[in-house]
Amino acid sequence: MLAAALSPQVLAKYEPVIGLEVHVQLLTATKAFCGCANHFGSAPNTNVCPVCLGLPGALPVLNAQAVEFAALASLAINCQVRERSIFARKNYFYPDLPKGYQISQFDKPIAEHGWIDVPTADGSMKRIGITRLHMEEDAGKSIHDGLIDSAKYTSLDLNRCGTPLAEIVSEPDMRTPDEAFEYLTRLKEILLYCGVSDCNMEEGSLRCDANVSVRPRGQTEFGTKVEVKNVNSFRFVRLALEYEIERQMEVIEAGGRITQESRLWNANEGRTYSMRSKEQAHDYRYFPEPDLPPLVLTREYIEGKRAELPELPEARRARMIAEYELSAQDAATLTAERAFADRFEAAARTARNPRRVANVLLSEVGGRLKALGLEQEQSPVSMAGIVQAADLLEEGKISSKQLKQLFDVCFEKGEEFATVYEREKPEQISDAGAIEALIDEVIAANPKQVEQYRAGKKTMAGFFVGQVMKASKGQANPALLNELVTKKLEG
Ligand SMILES: [Zn+2]
Repeated sequence: MLAAALSPQVLAKYEPVIGLEVHVQLLTATKAFCGCANHFGSAPNTNVCPVCLGLPGALPVLNAQAVEFAALASLAINCQVRERSIFARKNYFYPDLPKGYQISQFDKPIAEHGWIDVPTADGSMKRIGITRLHMEEDAGKSIHDGLIDSAKYTSLDLNRCGTPLAEIVSEPDMRTPDEAFEYLTRLKEILLYCGVSDCNMEEGSLRCDANVSVRPRGQTEFGTKVEVKNVNSFRFVRLALEYEIERQMEVIEAGGRITQESRLWNANEGRTYSMRSKEQAHDYRYFPEPDLPPLVLTREYIEGKRAELPELPEARRARMIAEYELSAQDAATLTAERAFADRFEAAARTARNPRRVANVLLSEVGGRLKALGLEQEQSPVSMAGIVQAADLLEEGKISSKQLKQLFDVCFEKGEEFATVYEREKPEQISDAGAIEALIDEVIAANPKQVEQYRAGKKTMAGFFVGQVMKASKGQANPALLNELVTKKLEG
């Protein structure tokens, strides 16, 4: 870590400036420019052909599905999609790039000028600009036998060559590592909702490089930026930025200057290292790719893709908060995964009262799963079971206490709700006379509360319902009980 912790005065003196470059592999069946399978985990060098191996004379053909996914992702992050974009060759040598160049986009990318909103520390939303989204192809993978500097040999797996990528470049709009973390979280969520990538960081289908600089507060020009590479989790992005920001402040405070360079994040040591090669002088000699014509998308095509966009997470949360009267936290839980939110809503819409389904799901199922450390898919109670329970509650056929007891059994025995309900069929007192007798007892025992009710404090009715339910051991028919309590108190 750093030699010494910086004082609050020093920390307050500088403002960090952060921009992120995110590469996502698109979830197409085949590669960007050939028919090879786009599949992670195949045996090395089995998904290759003359095109992605860069053999002389092989010609690329653009994958229509990759264009569709890039367009969808662009629109989902509020970019303007170009009607005419150009593929370019980015020339560099690396052993895992057999062509000697990468097909990318340079001055005319498929999309530009987007944004996404992210929550900030004070709870408000902040708009982060997105400079561009461009399409390109991935390179292969070098597998070093040991450390890169000392490896005796390096294996090459070219399966990844030609995998379609979207590179999403943000504006330098973020000011804290937390904002960067939120940006990545929201971006990933949007891409997952659109189904364009699986965003699996462990398998490398989402990768992130961070550009970071610091400047004295109040200064408008940016400081010298450093690119932090090799950060393979959102948590590490936050840690790497925290480290790098403090390192830069320390250098400046000591009278030094920041070198423009690329640095590698080392997760084990919790620090960044300068990469040996200085990259600021990179000249990729971009030029238009002669083997691919300009990519032309009609207005109709672009608007058609816009119409295909799913309801995006932020909009869905707002709607569900209104529709199911959820808290922001509960809405976030229900919408974290699109498939889950879809399953919940499909089920809730068949219920007598969808809001009850949300309540039962969150409090009875969610709470128990969390306590047991289980995932939603491991719940013994299906969505249909949750709807059944919510309906029984809504119809007054079981009390909420009985519902809790039934769910206890479901989770204890790993059984579906319907099974437990059929077997245990909780007893319910639906005999008005018996319930009235209990109400009379409770009324007689609580004269003060009766007085308050009759003086106009109608919410007191809830107190009596609760007391009688308790006296009935949770077995009183809730609908009938409510009705009789009001009648008795009014009478
Ligand atoms: Zn191929």
